[in-house]
Amino acid sequence: MTRTLTLTLLYLLGAGLAVHASVTSGQHDALGYALGFAALHALLLVAAIREWLAAEERRAIAAGAARLARLRARAEAEAEAIDGIARIELAAACCEMWWTSAGADHDAACGRDRWAA
Ligand SMILES: [Zn+2]
Repeated sequence: MTRTLTLTLLYLLGAGLAVHASVTSGQHDALGYALGFAALHALLLVAAIREWLAAEERRAIAAGAARLARLRARAEAEAEAIDGIARIELAAACCEMWWTSAGADHDAACGRDRWAA
């Protein structure tokens, strides 16, 4: 922001000096110089406006990137929580058949089905 303000003020100062030089050149009947300084004045005004607009664009991009980073961090935290729940559930499973059958059946080697019966 400081850089933008400094550049904008410098461009505006240069534009003001160009206007002064243009008017002074016109007063001394140097029409070519007057037109040249007038063109320089217009160029510096355009540069000041572009610098200000570019700064607005940079601020918007930075705000969007920060919002995206927050969303990404939240999604990663949610994914870690889901992974944790899945690990707990897998650790509680007694056998693969029980896990794949949603708790309806057990492997023959699993001792749990004897407890349930
Ligand atoms: Zn089992």
